[in-house]
Order: sequence, then C-alpha cells, then structure tokens
Amino acid sequence: MAGFLFWKKKRGAEVEAPVDEPVEQNETLVELAQPVEQNESLGAETAEAAYVAAESISAQPEVTSEETPEPTPEPIPEPTPEPTPEPTVEKAIEPEEVEQLVAVELPKRSAKKGIRSLFSRVKFNPENLDELEDILIQADFGLDASIAIVDEVKARAKKAGAAGEQELKDILAAVIAENLERDDKSLNLSDGKLPYVFLVVGVNGVGKTTTIGKLANWLTEGDWKVFIGAADTFRAAAVEQVATWAERAGATLIRPKTEGQDPASVAFESVEVAIKDDADIVIIDTAGRLQNKTDLMGELDKIRRVIEKQAKISEVLLVLDATTGQNGMSQAKAFAEIANVTGVVLTKLDGTAKGGIVYSIQRELGIPVKLVGVGEGVNDFAFFDATEFARGLVS
Ligand code: GDP
Ligand code: GDP
Ligand code: MG
Repeated sequence: MAGFLFWKKKRGAEVEAPVDEPVEQNETLVELAQPVEQNESLGAETAEAAYVAAESISAQPEVTSEETPEPTPEPIPEPTPEPTPEPTVEKAIEPEEVEQLVAVELPKRSAKKGIRSLFSRVKFNPENLDELEDILIQADFGLDASIAIVDEVKARAKKAGAAGEQELKDILAAVIAENLERDDKSLNLSDGKLPYVFLVVGVNGVGKTTTIGKLANWLTEGDWKVFIGAADTFRAAAVEQVATWAERAGATLIRPKTEGQDPASVAFESVEVAIKDDADIVIIDTAGRLQNKTDLMGELDKIRRVIEKQAKISEVLLVLDATTGQNGMSQAKAFAEIANVTGVVLTKLDGTAKGGIVYSIQRELGIPVKLVGVGEGVNDFAFFDATEFARGLVS
C-alpha cells in the first residue's frame, strides 16, 4: 500500500488541526509515500515545501462512520528511504500553487477478505505440479501464462530444493506477485493539477456507480472535496442511485437538468462547477448502455472533448466485472481502444474463483488494474496490491 502521495487543496480548517495524533489510529492509514515517480511533475523544492506543509498539519481524517475499516493485523510496510525527486523545471508547479496543496494520507482498504483461494475447491498437490497448470487455466490466467508460471515454479523449486506444500505455495505466490507487479498502478491523485477529473466507463451492471460511491466516500474521509457528475442520464433510476451514494459519501452531485440530457453536457457542467467551487476531484459516472462501437466512440469522444475544454483528465477508469472472466475481455478491448483507458477497476472479485483474470487483463490490454472491488459495501475495495492478491489466491 505504501507508494502513494496524494495531493489535495489545503483548506483553512486543516491548518489548525492538531498534529499529535495517537499512533494506534495511524495504523489504519496508508503510509505517506515519497514524492518519487508519482510526482515527476513537481520540482524538488516545491515537493519539499508541500511536504513541510503536510507535516505541519494533520491530514488524518476523523473516521466516524460505522464502517470504519478494521485495523489490519499486518505490519505496515517499512517506509522506503526518502529519495530526492528529480527537479523537472518545465513542469514544476508555481510556489504559490504549491502552498495551497497538501499531501494527505487516506484510510487503508484491504481486499484480503474478498479474494478467493485457487485451492478452495481443488487441492494443491505438491507431488504433481502439472495439475497446477489446469487450476491456473480454470482461474483465467490464460494458457500461456499458466504454463509459464508452472515452469517457473518448478525451476525455482528445483533450485531451492523445495518440495513441501507450504514452500511450493510460497514460491507460487512469489511468481504470481512478480508477474502482476507494475509501477503504474496507483491512481493519479498526485500531479497537483486540481481538480482531478476521473471518467468512469464500462458496460451496464459492472459496478461503475458503486465504485464511484466507494471512491467518493474514501476521499471525503480524507477530507477531500469531492464532486460527482451524474452523466448516466439514460435512466432516472441511475441518477437516483448515484445520488444516494453521493449523499452517503458527503460528495456534491451534479445532476442532469432534464431526463436524458446529453451526457457530455452534464460532464461539462460538472467540471465547470467543480472548478468554480474549488473541488479537489470530480468523478464522472457514465452510462453503460451503449450497444455498438460507433455509439460508444461517439459518446465517449464527446464527453472527453468537452471535459478537456476545461481540465485535464487524470484517469479514465474502465470498470470490469471479474465474474465475466475471459468473456469480458473483448468488451474490455473495445473500451481500451476507444476511451484511452488509464486503469482498470476489477469488481466482484468476491464472487469468483477466477482471479487470474487480473493477470490476463494486464497482459492482454497492457493496462494496470488499479482498484479491485470485493463486495457491495462502501469499504469493500482496495488498491490493487500484487503481493496481497497473490497471497490471497494461493492461501
Ligand atoms: P453500473 O451499472 O456499472 O453502474 O453498476 P452498479 O454500480 O449499479 O452495480 C451493479 C451491481 O453490482 C449492484 O448490485 C452492486 O451492488 C454490485 N456490485 C458492484 N461492485 C461489486 C463488488 O465488488 N462485489 C459485489 N459482490 N457486488 C458488486
Ligand atoms: P453539441 O453542442 O452537442 O454538438 O456538442 P459539443 O461537443 O460542442 O458539446 C456537448 C455539450 O457540452 C453541449 O451541449 C454543452 O452543453 C456542453 N458544452 C460544450 N462546450 C461548452 C462550452 O464551451 N460552454 C458551455 N457552457 N457548454 C459547453
Ligand atoms: Mg451506474
């Protein structure tokens, strides 16, 4: 989980917040990361200035909701030594601008409970590793990857002289984790160009609105000013659903003025209002009803175009339902081609033993899985963490 440095606007109240927070509470929070890759656009000095600002205030959210995330028994990862960020002069943020930004910690989320073991229905057989290949194929790792993983496990086992079940499982988990790890998996909440604009796309029923609700809630817990644009204007019920989530999350909703209003115009207004009201982030919900590629392309293009008149789009998140497995891949490819997708949100992992789909998505689409959904509750999601995920699959 470490590795994120999130920037939001500094607001009056934050400056007065007490600095000495009890240590136990901090354990449920994501570590503040270093301004390394995340933060290429900030110069060394400016990053440091904001860091100092961050230290002098408390960015810790008061977690008061009933659904307070349980403290994880896992030890917090050691903070890595603080590297000096490369000064990138051309792109550096102006000092005045940096003064108004603050680095924040956000509450931790875990996917652990939602990841099903590959071996919940079949047994791991240390005597015959060839069976593992079938298990991986059934879990949607894909044929080639399954073969490659088993070969690698065998090679490492031989080298290490490992034969016991636990030893082999550890090797398997390590091989999977290494293959899933990417350095572009964190959400872009760090380049300091506010408001961040997230566009959320995907077909009907995959979990777009739910994901937006979860994200909005998580960000408002960290005291972010969150706006949601209800650009899924096709059904009145869709607007009501996102309205319920917005209210629950304490986010501001921008509704269509009429039923069936042009989604691009709602997107435009959402970003306009978000800029005017000094929001940290605006998340645009879209409709998933599009039937064919031409429609899809036309509508998404238009939404993107009107947003970009006013702000940079930080993320285009493609939401995919893990239970659709390989069948969802062609759909995913169509979106990825059209929508300039920057990250995948894989939902409903709690409902499937086909977790290998993460592997296939990253390989075949070349797009990082950034978030996973592991239930319908507001806290049932996490940043994708290769090690946590691999351990869950192999447990
Ligand atoms: P949308 O049409 O893409 O906006 O999808 P919705 O957000 O309306 O979600 C469709 C259904 O999937 C709802 O019943 C959600 O509660 C459910 N759902 C969304 N994410 C998850 C998840 O991670 N796990 C489970 N089990 N259900 C989910
Ligand atoms: P069209 O107007 O539907 O042909 O398509 P556009 O791509 O120009 O814009 C789509 C929608 O976004 C419009 O209907 C407007 O509601 C909104 N929009 C786009 N650009 C602007 C703008 O510069 N000002 C305002 N107020 N709205 C805009
Ligand atoms: Mg929806």
